[in-house]
Amino acid sequence: MTGGSRPRRLVLLGHPVAHSLSPLFQGAALRAAGIDVRYEPLDVAPHELEKVLADLVAAGAAGNVTIPHKRAVWAACARRTAVAARAGAVNTFWVHEGTLHGDNTDVAGFDRAARALGVATTGARVVLLGAGGAAAAVCVATESWDGARVCIVARRPEQAHHLAAVFSHVEVTETADALADCSLLVNATPVGMRDDVMPCDPSRIPPDAAVMDLVYRRGETAWVRAARATGHVAADGREMLLQQGALAFERWFGMPPDIDIMRAALDGAR
Ligand code: NAP
Repeated sequence: MTGGSRPRRLVLLGHPVAHSLSPLFQGAALRAAGIDVRYEPLDVAPHELEKVLADLVAAGAAGNVTIPHKRAVWAACARRTAVAARAGAVNTFWVHEGTLHGDNTDVAGFDRAARALGVATTGARVVLLGAGGAAAAVCVATESWDGARVCIVARRPEQAHHLAAVFSHVEVTETADALADCSLLVNATPVGMRDDVMPCDPSRIPPDAAVMDLVYRRGETAWVRAARATGHVAADGREMLLQQGALAFERWFGMPPDIDIMRAALDGAR
């Protein structure tokens, strides 16, 4: 929580940020709650971040962070929640008594989205494509799933090995064998964001595995559509986006937003 002081300004820090749907549904939630603060996308190049953050702290602002700033904002925070500390990335920040605080609501956002999809979390066998910030959030979330194991497939194995060194339930593979006993396949790369390229051939996904694409785009991703067409339970990143946004709102204002209004705003962008 913000410690009683409401943010005077709300921003989304990223580079680029124009594609983000967060302003749409956060704006709807703010209007529904009668909060007279606008949620502004702020395109900040990496070399400008330090100065922008100093200005935001001085202004008592709060907000979200997206690619490529999650790690840098984590490093800039004076205080981090335990989850943000574990993930090594911050996607939600606020200012309390003049200092920058950070949380990572992607973690619980992923967990909620997986449960909404009906994923069996106990003993889950997760294959995770990618080893960046979103993958780290998946590692933190699945750490609390009883008996779950995660196998990372990444084009840069050293990045994946870094996660495996931090999380005891995580290992790295450089072969396709991991898919054989997979119960949940997660795409945490940006593949499919701008075109119909797929992060993994849908015909290789075991029949009973659920599919979560953290990428979202208008009309869903080609990968999610293809997985569903071959009988898989599948969802793109919209539910996670919505859930992480609702949790961020709660951090800033100390009360949950009207999630139905947020969802309706997001569905309107389909
Ligand atoms: P990131 O930190 O930049 O990590 C991206 C990962 O994907 C890295 O391991 C990267 O490898 C790999 N990668 C990039 N391009 C690739 C390609 N063409 N083929 C194979 N691997 C590739 O980004 P992130 O923050 O984790 O975000 C990843 C995706 O998740 C983005 O599309 C983002 O929008 C989405 N996301 C969604 C939500 C949500 O709420 N739905 C939340 C967070 C993130 P290299 O290091 O080798 O480049």
